[in-house]
Amino acid sequence: MKTVVLKFGGTSVGTIDRIKKVCKIIAFYKKKKNRVLVVSSAMSGVTNELVNKSKLISNNFDKAEYDTLVSTGEQVSCALIAGRLKHNGFKSRSWTSWQLPILTDGPHSSARISSVGIKELNKYINSGGIPVITGFQGISNDFRITTIGRSGSDATAIMLAKFVKAEECIIYTDVDGVYTTDPRQYKKAKKIQKIFYDEMLEMASLGSKVMQPTSVQDAKLNEIDIKVKSSFVSKNGTLITSSKKIFSNQIITGISSTKNDAKITIVGVKDRPGVAASIFRPLSKNLINVDMVVQNISQNGKETDLTFTINSEDLKKTERLIKKNNSISYKKLSFDKDLSKVSIIGVGMITTPGITYRMFQALASKKINILVISTSEIKISVLISSKNVKKAIAVLHKEFKLD
Ligand code: ASP
Ligand code: MG
Repeated sequence: MKTVVLKFGGTSVGTIDRIKKVCKIIAFYKKKKNRVLVVSSAMSGVTNELVNKSKLISNNFDKAEYDTLVSTGEQVSCALIAGRLKHNGFKSRSWTSWQLPILTDGPHSSARISSVGIKELNKYINSGGIPVITGFQGISNDFRITTIGRSGSDATAIMLAKFVKAEECIIYTDVDGVYTTDPRQYKKAKKIQKIFYDEMLEMASLGSKVMQPTSVQDAKLNEIDIKVKSSFVSKNGTLITSSKKIFSNQIITGISSTKNDAKITIVGVKDRPGVAASIFRPLSKNLINVDMVVQNISQNGKETDLTFTINSEDLKKTERLIKKNNSISYKKLSFDKDLSKVSIIGVGMITTPGITYRMFQALASKKINILVISTSEIKISVLISSKNVKKAIAVLHKEFKLD
């Protein structure tokens, strides 16, 4: 007998009609004699509404009450699913996080699941029942309700799959898998059959919104295979797995892009130890996320130029922080907005030479100017003008034979 965890996202349970459909998917797995566990997110829009309510009450809403409030949407959807399964003649009941319990560590609203109590669950499943478990929420060491970050119910499903030793963990969502690039940006985007955790982590943190990066990290750490599928259409999805398990001869797996990047260049800063730290200290204190960083080699050994990128929303604040920073001196500051980072991702580039050249050559053939470059073992990112993103994705998609 196989143990299967089925997770449904907000749009999959967005209406009563959708919940009835989802129960048919659950019934399909149950009838195949699987041991089935269900995790659900709140009906779409519900969590946002709750967040808005907290803001109307206070612009400094208590963090523990915030989690108690915003986690309630999951209780509603789980009760509705369990109720519908019972209506259809199945044995089913809902479980909230404190009832299992799902224990978490870390601060409110970004806690991480540390363990899941499975004794009652196993008894219930063995007696033929289908447990329906609230995603997104947990409890802290002092028995307060916690939440594990927006879109966190993926992580609930993954950690549950780990503790019940499930053979399969299927994430049902409103897209039918992970694509080589955003299909809305580029029509020839293809569904990826198999992608490695590290590639998915890069895709997720570089702007592909199919899964929350921390959930992918949980899957990687615990080696849980994930299938991403659509609850709207019955099609094969994407398998997210470990590179130890499968072989791939694909060099580049996907292309992602960001919006709203901004670039700051500080010209003529002293080339001394500690200067970069002095520049970034106030930014880090103000929770400004610095992404790409490039420092030029100094011509005269005394001064250098430093360029870095941030989200455009933080541009004004960053400008202010640099201008009032007395611990640095420089000759000139310059700012650019409306930039995007386009990245190619694939574990194949570790063993294949010439990928950097092919990327730059492809962009050059379309006269796309590269402003900043950064690389890791499995990705190459370039910063370009946002107006060139579509063109860049198209030419790279073709160059790396993803079409
Ligand atoms: N309902 C929560 C949210 O909207 C968790 C989730 O959707 O996974 O963030
Ligand atoms: Mg969601």
